Amino acid sequence: MSESATNRIRSFLASTSLVKVNASSNHMYDAWLSGKDFRARDGQLEMIQFIDEALHAKAPRIAVVEAGPGTGKTIAYSTAAIPIGLQRNKRIVLVTATVALQDQVTSKDLPELRVMSDVSFSYVLAKGRQRYVCPRRLSSAANSVDAQALTDLASAGEQRSDESTRFVELFDSFVSGGWNGDLDHSPVFLPQRLWSTVTTDSRGCTNTACKWYSRCPYYKAREQFADADIIVTNYDLLLSHLRLGTDILPPIEDSIFVLDEAHNLVSKTMNAFSKSLNIVSSGMRLNEITAGLEQLNEEFGKDAEIVRSLAEFHEPHEYARKLLKRLITIVRGLKFSEDWEGVSQFRFKDGVVPEEIQTVAAQLALQYLDMRAAVSRVCTWLREHADSQTSEFDSDAITERLNEFVAADQHLEESRDLLLDFGNTNEGSVSSRWVEYVTHEAIEEWRLKSVPVEIDQILADKIWSKAHATILTSATLNAGDDFLHFKTEVGLNQDVRTLGLESPFDLDRTVTLQIPKLQTTPGGNNKKHLKEIAHLLPELLGQEKSALVLFSSRVAMDSIYNDLPTKTQRNCLVQNKIGRHALLQMHKQRIDKGEISYIFGLASYREGIDLPGDYCRHVIITRLPFDVPTDPIVESKKELLLKAGYEQSHLFTRYQVPEATLRLTQACGRLIRNEQDWGRITILDRRIVSRSYGEQMLNALPNYRLDIE
Ligand code: SF4
Repeated sequence: MSESATNRIRSFLASTSLVKVNASSNHMYDAWLSGKDFRARDGQLEMIQFIDEALHAKAPRIAVVEAGPGTGKTIAYSTAAIPIGLQRNKRIVLVTATVALQDQVTSKDLPELRVMSDVSFSYVLAKGRQRYVCPRRLSSAANSVDAQALTDLASAGEQRSDESTRFVELFDSFVSGGWNGDLDHSPVFLPQRLWSTVTTDSRGCTNTACKWYSRCPYYKAREQFADADIIVTNYDLLLSHLRLGTDILPPIEDSIFVLDEAHNLVSKTMNAFSKSLNIVSSGMRLNEITAGLEQLNEEFGKDAEIVRSLAEFHEPHEYARKLLKRLITIVRGLKFSEDWEGVSQFRFKDGVVPEEIQTVAAQLALQYLDMRAAVSRVCTWLREHADSQTSEFDSDAITERLNEFVAADQHLEESRDLLLDFGNTNEGSVSSRWVEYVTHEAIEEWRLKSVPVEIDQILADKIWSKAHATILTSATLNAGDDFLHFKTEVGLNQDVRTLGLESPFDLDRTVTLQIPKLQTTPGGNNKKHLKEIAHLLPELLGQEKSALVLFSSRVAMDSIYNDLPTKTQRNCLVQNKIGRHALLQMHKQRIDKGEISYIFGLASYREGIDLPGDYCRHVIITRLPFDVPTDPIVESKKELLLKAGYEQSHLFTRYQVPEATLRLTQACGRLIRNEQDWGRITILDRRIVSRSYGEQMLNALPNYRLDIE
């Protein structure tokens, strides 16, 4: 590091509270810069100072920082928070939304910081149980494959044989020590459907009685959770901690939370607190549970406990069957919206469900409660026999039956949650409630949904008012409105400190944002707009060898893809035609071989995709990412805003424009992943220059070079 850089840091640090109140922050950052031979970055220094001030303020100690790519925010919040956590005996809970950031923090940033600063702190990566393999279930799956292999694997068909091999490979890798049982580092790719067959939850685990206990990856990881100064985790675990409490994370009052990638906080919280019930498949599930109980009864010699459980399940099941039929008759009579992406909806105004549905839902909730009591008893019986040395039953068979009934127990519990929610909706509702109607190959489905829309209250009660301190950061938090939208949505007071830092990358030189002339806009004639994009795309794609093209709906993506010339289609990899993991691998392989490759993706490809350098030289956004017009959550949000006194005419700018602006910033952020990156972004929606809200959106984007036709 140059002399002048060192002096600059020292004079900065001397001028701030860092040296006065906390010499270790000074030491950590200084040592890290020296160790990396880096020059201090203005934005990084500013972020350290800002967080330091927030952590030394009177409660609530909360800081919100939007930091553009390349700021080095992980090092900034770590050097600011770690010394204070150690001094005050508070533990840091560092939450990320993506595995990529989790890996970067635990494999690179924290180890480097510890070695270079010589400050003694410990850290651990904590995930929920479902992210670790259950060796007992894996062993059972692999063993059943071996037996099957001797008999009929050859005739089992290609897919089955492929799945079977994966379990065996995974098991071999685990027992040989080549793999530690962490899903995110699995040497063999397992889709979620297969993965869930080799994990378990607390109800399916026999804990210390299990013969695999001493080698169990979940319990091994947990041993380290209790003492670590920093726990790196994901939003699912954090929210489950807030919802139900866990023994993995420390008490909220003793935690300094660092919520990275915090733009995910709203959607993750809604998901975690949402409830759902598919009426038709729940009815089928109840029949399966009865069949499972009958089979269990036969298999395990009509044990008195099973006989009793079967009898106690029978009566509420019969009544539930009739009530579910009644419920279908009622919801069939609702006036559903037009089909959007294969789904029609009926939203209940103000979240209040009609009395007739409430009555049936409340009665059903009682039946599900009784059925659950019977199934829970079976789970207890199976758990006792699973590892009993004296049990006459086969341990593997019992384990599999245990997990089957644990899944049944979970279904009954989750269904009852929704039914209770629908059974009493009159009192000041803060949830959006609706019914979805779907037909698939002549099978009709009705799904009841309930999603909290006032998550600001949930977060304020459960975390902002309790945590020792909280830092929220991301590259996209400010929708060009001085953080007003973000703070309102997550329930932070408007006087909470905020800081916006632009990316240090030279984006006005390396990125061109082009908005070509178009004859149509999506707000006008949508079909014509899709046709015009299909006409333009071959030429636009021809500008670079790689591109990520983002669409607002599956219908739009399919329509445009189908209208492309075959030559262009051959170079396109379309989301959902192959899995995300395989698609990204294929794309990178093509680019590595010097071939052309374009990814066509929907909303989920707007983030969490890392395509540095030649893997992505062009991001094309076909439509401004406004909410789906019939989204029930958006409608319920608008209802709430109206009740809060907003004018109808302001709802669009107050809610939908900021949401779309943040999504647009995320989408554009796919292009530049490091300092050497360059490329172009094209927006094929002229509303960004023709409508009044366009200016706010453009202003919220980084400082790209504009090319507007
Ligand atoms: S201790 Fe629980 S999670 Fe671990 S292997 Fe045994 S049953 Fe599975």
